[in-house]
Amino acid sequence: MARDSRRKDKAADKKGRGRGRDGKAGGRPRRGSFFMRRKGCFMCAKRREANYKDLEFLGEMMTERGTLLTRRITGICATHQRQVAVSVKRARILAMLPFERN
Ligand SMILES: [Zn+2]
Repeated sequence: MARDSRRKDKAADKKGRGRGRDGKAGGRPRRGSFFMRRKGCFMCAKRREANYKDLEFLGEMMTERGTLLTRRITGICATHQRQVAVSVKRARILAMLPFERN
């Protein structure tokens, strides 16, 4: 009995905070609905490393405006995201990529 009440308190506490019921802010991706399960990092899978000379690849990791895509969108791991970021910065300094467009 006591356990149950404690659980209820916790649930109420969670509701009280900012996160919505559908878990839009953080939370796990839903199965079988709009949200897809996140697959692993494709760079790890292909054993691919980011390189500042590989403009075709770096272009894929950027938006049309020339800013980096986030990890949330690309789905790559933190290590590789950092690698891509450094590569993009190197390419920018060498004027191979723009700092910004428009
Ligand atoms: Zn990775």
